[in-house]
Amino acid sequence: MRMTDATMYARVLAGDSAYNGRFFTGVLTTGIYCLPSCKARKPRPENVRFFPSCETARASGLRACKKCHPDDFALGADPVLESIETLVAEVRTAPATFSDARAIVRRSGFGQTRLFELFRQHYHSTPADLLLRARLDVAKQQLSTTGAGLTEIAGNVGFESLSVFHDQFRQHNGLTPAAYRDLARSRSFEVTLPTGYPLGYLRRALSRDIHSVTERLSGDDYLGAVRLSTGPAVLRLKLSSDAVQAEISAGSAFEAHALVIGLLGLDQDAGAFSRLAKKLGVGRLVAERTELRISQTPSVFDGVLWSIIGQQINFPFACLLKRRLVERTGTLLPNGLYAPPTPATVAALEPSELLPLQFSRQKADYVIATARLVASGQLDLQALRTMSATRAERTLLAIRGLGPWSVNYLMMRSLGFADCVPYGDTSVTSSLQALFKLDERPDIDATRRLMSVFSPYRSLATTHLWQLNQPIPV
Ligand SMILES: [Zn+2]
Repeated sequence: MRMTDATMYARVLAGDSAYNGRFFTGVLTTGIYCLPSCKARKPRPENVRFFPSCETARASGLRACKKCHPDDFALGADPVLESIETLVAEVRTAPATFSDARAIVRRSGFGQTRLFELFRQHYHSTPADLLLRARLDVAKQQLSTTGAGLTEIAGNVGFESLSVFHDQFRQHNGLTPAAYRDLARSRSFEVTLPTGYPLGYLRRALSRDIHSVTERLSGDDYLGAVRLSTGPAVLRLKLSSDAVQAEISAGSAFEAHALVIGLLGLDQDAGAFSRLAKKLGVGRLVAERTELRISQTPSVFDGVLWSIIGQQINFPFACLLKRRLVERTGTLLPNGLYAPPTPATVAALEPSELLPLQFSRQKADYVIATARLVASGQLDLQALRTMSATRAERTLLAIRGLGPWSVNYLMMRSLGFADCVPYGDTSVTSSLQALFKLDERPDIDATRRLMSVFSPYRSLATTHLWQLNQPIPV
């Protein structure tokens, strides 16, 4: 569907980078053409003409803007983004070579303010936070694959002392570096929860579908059928207010630990978002749940299935379709639960096989086509986790069947990006209306504006908005 000039002009005023490439803005008074996201002064509407491509803009006698480089974008080149991605890859490979965030700024060649803006935009993060996570990730690799001592590892990855390493590791991973190393010889482990962790919300997340065939929660005992790289396994959790006991029936406890940290959302900065919400005068949004996290899906593929299946249907019906797909393609385990399907099993289906399960023809097509992209290696789901958010978003938006809602949902629920909003989500807009006491439900532009104040924590803001009109769990 072709956008109207008014729609395109509104995107230009908003500087909306999501529309880059979908049209180009020609400014007749200056003789240049731009991307919608261009930071140059906004042209007046009467001086603007819109073009579908750089070629058509040039054919009208316009020149490419030197600020936003529309031709580079159209060619798929994005030199600024690429330089940030290269820098981040360096930080992640050798974090010890950067003493602190200032060292990253110096290496980048950008000014500090500009670099912070670029990190926020492309990684939903700050240089300091990205550096800390890089240190912890490399430390985890060394703990699980080498016999190096803890002091040595702390130094290898750039921590100034063993105690800082110990504290940061424990905070992000729920256990000490020594306990993490012990996962090589054990199938069970304990993850410590931060003070005030809202267990009721975790119980709610783990029992969203009360008829689920992959997981079961009774009281504080959770049983989940999961699929690790070695195959199906049963994850058993015992919840309590200060710690979670975990046990995996088969496979690697390191993998199981990563899965549990994701389910608990333990490495998210819940405190920082709650402080921001209070500072903005909307403490009501986080009341009784300041430590709320986004429970991550057990795998990225699981998130992909859910984000396609959940489109434009109500939640109970989406659960029903998901269950039927899992019963059809998953692995039945002795305890009666099904381990989720592999991409290859779903890829082997024909769309006509999903119609009797009440999938629409289009949903069946999308689910199977996407599974085929993954199974054939054209779409690398694990690689999405380490891409910049911008690259991950572009990669996912290029897939037929994944629109802005699905892509943002997937990025926040399965890839751990901190600053996403599933635009078009009616639960988000009705909560925003209630929170800000608006006369009417905000449209997409108003939603964008209202949500912008929560950057770079818009994923957590979304999660709190989803809970706003629900009863507080016990
Ligand atoms: Zn421009």
